[in-house]
This record gives sequence, C-alpha cells and structure tokens, in this order.
Amino acid sequence: MANPKKRKSRSAVRTNRAHLALKETTLNKCPQCGKAVKPHTACAFCGTYRGRQILKVKTTTAKAK
Ligand SMILES: [Zn+2]
Repeated sequence: MANPKKRKSRSAVRTNRAHLALKETTLNKCPQCGKAVKPHTACAFCGTYRGRQILKVKTTTAKAK
C-alpha cells in the first residue's frame, strides 16, 4: 500500500489548503420571471428552461406577474 514517506510540514499543508476555499456560486437571471437561477438548470419558480415549459409548478406566483 502507498504510504507517505515524510510528514508534511505545517507550512506545506497550509500552502496546499490555500486553494481549497469555496467559490461563490454564480447565478443568472431567469429570462421568464427574472428570478435568480443556477445556470444550465430549469427555473424552480416558473419551470422553464431555454424558453420552454419543462416543470409543472404548483405555485401561482409566477403567473400572477
Ligand atoms: Zn423563471
């Protein structure tokens, strides 16, 4: 089994972990209802993706606008 030969120094560990921070998620505006949605994902508020109705949405808030 592969085993590390030497213990990593605190500095080496911290240098490595400097790149592990979480990135801020990118959000686009839904062209249909204008709410913030994840890219490449159907809108959870109005159920559309690329201008087509994909999901059945139970709430009526999207229609009211
Ligand atoms: Zn939408």
